[in-house]
Amino acid sequence: MKNINGFLPLNLEEALLILKHSYKNGRKVRIVAGGTDVMARGNGNQSFFLDSVLDISALKEIQEIKTCEDKIKIGAGCTHAQIAKSILLKNHASILTKASSVIGSPQIRHRGTIGGNICNASPVGDILPSLYVLNAVLTLASASQKREVPIKEFIKGPGRTIIQPDELLTEITVDMLGENEFTDYRRSATRKALAISKSSVAFRGIKKEGVLVGVKIALGSVGPVIISAHNCEKLIEGKKIDEEMLAQIPSAVQADCKPIDDLRSTKEYRSHVVGVFLAEILRSC
Ligand SMILES: Cc1cc2nc3c(=O)[nH]c(=O)nc-3n(C[C@H](O)[C@H](O)[C@H](O)COP(=O)(O)OP(=O)(O)OC[C@H]3O[C@@H](n4cnc5c(N)ncnc54)[C@H](O)[C@@H]3O)c2cc1C
Repeated sequence: MKNINGFLPLNLEEALLILKHSYKNGRKVRIVAGGTDVMARGNGNQSFFLDSVLDISALKEIQEIKTCEDKIKIGAGCTHAQIAKSILLKNHASILTKASSVIGSPQIRHRGTIGGNICNASPVGDILPSLYVLNAVLTLASASQKREVPIKEFIKGPGRTIIQPDELLTEITVDMLGENEFTDYRRSATRKALAISKSSVAFRGIKKEGVLVGVKIALGSVGPVIISAHNCEKLIEGKKIDEEMLAQIPSAVQADCKPIDDLRSTKEYRSHVVGVFLAEILRSC
């Protein structure tokens, strides 16, 4: 049985130094935040935990939600439960509180973090479509520098990101919604709780003189990464919501989605439901 080092740093500087020295000495580190993904994937597989485990759950610096000018900054270590009940987010980025509140179960929401959901880079991650429509920018920190990367550039494929072995995701910066902005998040799953999404839609737009402008739509679980639905956006932008426009949604969805069949669902169901959700959202705004 191999010896695995365990680290529980009490501040960010210490965590980044551990990553730096491990990297320099060729020791691979498995970062653990809430552990809800890591513990499931590493169950019975010691090699998954590499040479060392770095538990970042005690880093208070990455557990805050605050405003900064016209943006909101969310610490990567904030749990889904914390996000779901944040008054600041409810008032200025309510789509995030809605998306966080459907994740897993109360236990999962109290352990699982926004940073873990992002770094997991799963196309079914429930927080991701909302982050796409809120133009999320991620702060990646190492002991020597900080860099900022839009979420679209951070996620490269299922489970693949551009994070380096000596870096931590520390913060997520999102747009603060304007007063007339409307957002919604909908997902389909086998059950309401403890079920992974079969397909999901995040929507953002402003209703102005009877039409929608500034439309942004992101789709989850219908491609290898979250999809920015440019065909749907083009169809809706600046148009009146009427039956003629709604009838064109299924073909715009087809042009945007790249769903697959798997044990959870079929590709036909996945893209059909996206169209139904989008029409429901448009009728409700
Ligand atoms: C029963 C169950 C139900 C679930 N239901 C849902 C659901 O409905 N919707 C959904 O989206 N997800 C769901 N999940 C998945 C999971 O709970 C979420 O993805 C959660 O947000 C992961 O966060 P975590 O803090 O637990 O991540 P961890 O498991 O700690 O880490 C996940 C990955 O991210 C890396 N990582 C974490 N934080 C950082 C950081 N700050 N910097 C760099 N790397 C980091 C880790 O190294 C690891 O690779 C479920 C999981 C379980 C077990």
